[in-house]
Amino acid sequence: MCNNSVETTYRKRAVAKWLTSTHLYNLIALNSEKQKSYYGSLLCSSRLYQEPGKIVSHYCNQRWCLVCARIRTAKFIQEYGPVLAEFSEPYFVTLTEGSKDTKPRNFTELVERLNSYHKTSVKIKRAFRGGKLKGIRKLEVTYSTTKRWYHPHYHYIVDGKEVAEKIVQIWQSVYGKKRAKQCKSEPARAGFEKELGKYITKFTKTVWRNGKKTYLPIPSLNLDTIFRALSGRRTIQPIGIRKVPLEEEMLEDLQAEEFDEIMDYAVYTWNYRLGTWLTDDGEPIVWAKEHIDKRLEALPYTMNELVFAEKMAHKIGYENGYQSMNNNR
Ligand SMILES: [Zn+2]
Repeated sequence: MCNNSVETTYRKRAVAKWLTSTHLYNLIALNSEKQKSYYGSLLCSSRLYQEPGKIVSHYCNQRWCLVCARIRTAKFIQEYGPVLAEFSEPYFVTLTEGSKDTKPRNFTELVERLNSYHKTSVKIKRAFRGGKLKGIRKLEVTYSTTKRWYHPHYHYIVDGKEVAEKIVQIWQSVYGKKRAKQCKSEPARAGFEKELGKYITKFTKTVWRNGKKTYLPIPSLNLDTIFRALSGRRTIQPIGIRKVPLEEEMLEDLQAEEFDEIMDYAVYTWNYRLGTWLTDDGEPIVWAKEHIDKRLEALPYTMNELVFAEKMAHKIGYENGYQSMNNNR
């Protein structure tokens, strides 16, 4: 990672951090049982510490954090990429239920469906005795703002068409061919491992308004329902394969960024309004405003509204005595 430039790395990270913060302000305001964890993510990589040759920070490692998702994807590819690359016929399977009467519309129904799906995934594993099933299973839950239902589904990456088809058959034997007609198996596209390592839900819905791309945020209430329902569940499950163990140093390398460039300052602090990290003297580590403004333009908020939401979120954190994770270092 030595050839990374501070520019590119921190510009991408700034956009991820800005977007995560924007979603978090609304999630924190909900006052749900996850509030403390949401608040913790607000402090994720909010301070950057320069050490000799590298920049380190504290990471929240939560599911809803886009900064951590980028690190997680990189980690996932290092761990599972080599194993998946050995598959002779990688197949991508999608398992779900399509009929509207089975679509969960609230927390209880979502948990019920997730429990049922988990049971079926165990049944699938058992159907392939003798270590014949090799692959990765991933759970995702999205929300449809037009249909107003949750869409929990599994993705499997397995080796071989026959294996993939058998998985779909077992699923359909449980939920019925008609209900599970949208399930499919297809040859995996190149770069599928990157997709698998990514998000477990979508935060926005892309629509075109007056010829412009607009990102409509998924309502926080629905996102919170998804995160609560997924609490304590494994979303990525390797089956019959072993990951390449990452050494402590490699993991540190994924989190810290090594640079050849020499920088003069030791600590940078996140500034939401400017969408970058600044030194005490107000020097930005990178100038990402143009990229942030583009994102802001595509969201149905004004900067003033967001700054107000930011203040409210910090007030809630302060009043609840949530500890600043920045003090850990
Ligand atoms: Zn994070």
